[in-house]
Amino acid sequence: MNANYLDDLNERQREAVTTLKGPLMIIAGAGSGKTKVLTTRIAHLMRNGVDAFNILALTFTNKAAKEMKERVEKILGGNEARNLYIGTFHSVFARLLRSDAPKLGYPSDFTIYDADDAKSVVKTIVNELNLDDKHYKPNLVYNRISAAKNSLMSPEEYQHDYYVQQEDQRANRPLVGKIYEMYAKRCFKNGAMDFDDLLYKMYVLLKGFPEVLAKYQHKFKYIMIDEYQDTNPAQYEIVKLLGAVHENICVVGDDAQSIYSFRGATIQNILQFEKDYDDVKVVKLEQNYRSTKSILNVANEVIAKNKGQIEKNLWTDNTEGDKIKLIRTNTDNDEGKFVSDTIAEQKLRNHYANRDFAILYRTNAQSRSFEESLRRMAIPYRIYGGISFYQRKEIKDFLAYLRVIINTRDEESIKRIINYPVRGIGKTTIEKITIYSNEQNITFWQVLENAREFGFKGGTLEAIENFVTMMHSFRVQLEKQNAYDVAVQVGKSTNIVKELFNDKTTEGLARYENIQELLNSIKEFTETPTEDGELLDKSLGSYLQQITLLTDADQGNDQDSDVVKLMTIHAAKGLEFPVVFTVGLEESLFPSGMSINSREELEEERRLFYVAVTRAKSRLFLTYANSRYRFGQLQQNEPSRFIDEMPDQYIDRSYAGGMRNAGNFGGGGVSWGGMFDKRKTPAQQSTPVTRTVSKPVSSGAASNHTPSPNFAADDPAQMEAGMDVEHQKFGFGKIMSLEGAPNNRIATVVFPKGGGEKKIMLNYAKLMIV
Ligand code: ATP
Ligand code: MG
Repeated sequence: MNANYLDDLNERQREAVTTLKGPLMIIAGAGSGKTKVLTTRIAHLMRNGVDAFNILALTFTNKAAKEMKERVEKILGGNEARNLYIGTFHSVFARLLRSDAPKLGYPSDFTIYDADDAKSVVKTIVNELNLDDKHYKPNLVYNRISAAKNSLMSPEEYQHDYYVQQEDQRANRPLVGKIYEMYAKRCFKNGAMDFDDLLYKMYVLLKGFPEVLAKYQHKFKYIMIDEYQDTNPAQYEIVKLLGAVHENICVVGDDAQSIYSFRGATIQNILQFEKDYDDVKVVKLEQNYRSTKSILNVANEVIAKNKGQIEKNLWTDNTEGDKIKLIRTNTDNDEGKFVSDTIAEQKLRNHYANRDFAILYRTNAQSRSFEESLRRMAIPYRIYGGISFYQRKEIKDFLAYLRVIINTRDEESIKRIINYPVRGIGKTTIEKITIYSNEQNITFWQVLENAREFGFKGGTLEAIENFVTMMHSFRVQLEKQNAYDVAVQVGKSTNIVKELFNDKTTEGLARYENIQELLNSIKEFTETPTEDGELLDKSLGSYLQQITLLTDADQGNDQDSDVVKLMTIHAAKGLEFPVVFTVGLEESLFPSGMSINSREELEEERRLFYVAVTRAKSRLFLTYANSRYRFGQLQQNEPSRFIDEMPDQYIDRSYAGGMRNAGNFGGGGVSWGGMFDKRKTPAQQSTPVTRTVSKPVSSGAASNHTPSPNFAADDPAQMEAGMDVEHQKFGFGKIMSLEGAPNNRIATVVFPKGGGEKKIMLNYAKLMIV
């Protein structure tokens, strides 16, 4: 136990930590120890006799929650911290809703729809209404519905709200309200909640059931919220309800880091806090412990351009540090190359590990050029966010089986799998089932169960009945076996695993391996003791909940692996790294082209820039390219206006370190176009992207090998058993034997890093003798 945890704090921080009662607002700039204060405060509460079960802490990511628990445990010793309710709004409310959802007519095992599922439901409805989905774009409609829920607006209210209706009229989409209504009904019928429902329904529950509200008000005697500036009205109202009795609410935030107004967050929440309660204590923290003076001064000066800031004077005792390096390149590929070269150089020169670097960009699409160059340099990296492992088609299909086993009301998931793998239940049949289910107001599944009564005949009837029987058998198994065994059985009985195994294309192989990874992750889940001391819940349902609620920043959540991190600035909120590259500083990219039409939007972009800059502890590189491919076209861009807003004295505009010092570029010196790294990637480093389940994989699973830059396939006639070869995808291997006619030879090759023994048709596959 660490008795001196209060000694690690400055006076203001200590004041915040030791103020245990009443509403408390800590409003402070980046890196001033807000999160540290929150964590220490939890420990302090517990040291002062507050039961962990009575503390609710809401964080921005699950990862932050986990770290908080660990730190509290470190301070206090023992394992009491496991009883804390810590998590994101979504994960905590999902957990609470599990027990109370039946009050709202949902099964307690309700399915959670991610944005993809939700958009697909919207699309179905748009089509059912015979509307044009090019005009009523599912994405657009979904965003409107999402915004409505985050403002706690029901479908009825939406359709009667004058301003909302005006907006939809102006956009020539008057039926969005109708779609919202149908969408809500459909989700309810499916026993599903989307992400926004986890907030909205929580609110409905607390408002509609006083005894439930009283239960949680009594339970959560102390409430804490990190990143309060990014809470939306729904979150704000729920917290207000929960805290209304004890009023022990502590919020920490920074108005300068409010970057989610597009999701309905509003700075008003911060301003309102002081008005909502009688005796709000406000603590300001002004000392930054994270960054060098140079970095902090740049951040301060840029953010000062925003109007209406809450006044803060952020300073640091840290050293001046290096100047901020500003680098201009010709193209986006050069930008990628510069960053990778500089990482290599900095590792050598300043003894950094890969994990010390972060590359932060405005949009996910920018990751490509960095991925390519990092791969070429064999620098391991991981992308956070973007298309995640769980968004892949084969994974979603497989998960759909598991979801239906848990919740047969989930129509969206049934439709995904009813004819996958193909079992002769065609589109017309599915349409008929949908119509019957809508007409009779029963679930899709109930129609399937009674297919004969609904007049299905012959092969179709047989196929439906077989499907129903199979799904029933899984549900029965679930009562006796654990999640993993059932999942394996699903893979077998449906033939999915076999089918993918037999697909010997690279993509097929990748899909097969992804399914294996998924099964591994289920196994890992069932075997690892859970963090939630209270709920030792290893059920399939809790597995599905956990993976659906991973946030962008959670994906790839093993901090320890030594990889360079790539993510959007949004996902980097609250994090810190020794060396940061903020890239793509160009007009129309950052600030975003969609955000330069109003002062509010531009100020949000500037706050985003502030967040990016303040992630860096010691070194900061800012890059921009003269031209880059966007939306399939080469675009010329002006440097970002934020570059002009930075004070000159802290900026080094002449830096070209990585290019000059990496030493592999023939003539040396700086040249930005078309250079090609001729070095050969060593075999042992040929898998730069680390792959494990629960993390996004940035390319097809079996295609992680970075071919040597000068890869050239050799003539099959020259191949002999015993030769060492390189394959474009599988990497280095040894030919074990050869068979087949001279013009159609098949080699058996063992690839130690590429999945073991494989049969390669030499006329198709490219092998190089090494
Ligand atoms: P952000 O606004 O980015 O979320 P924050 O205000 O939450 O930042 P923290 O992440 O809590 O700041 O702290 C920033 C860094 O400063 C951390 O590495 C933390 O350990 C360190 N730190 C905070 N307070 C102190 C202190 N009193 N002494 C030493 N280090 C500190
Ligand atoms: Mg923080």
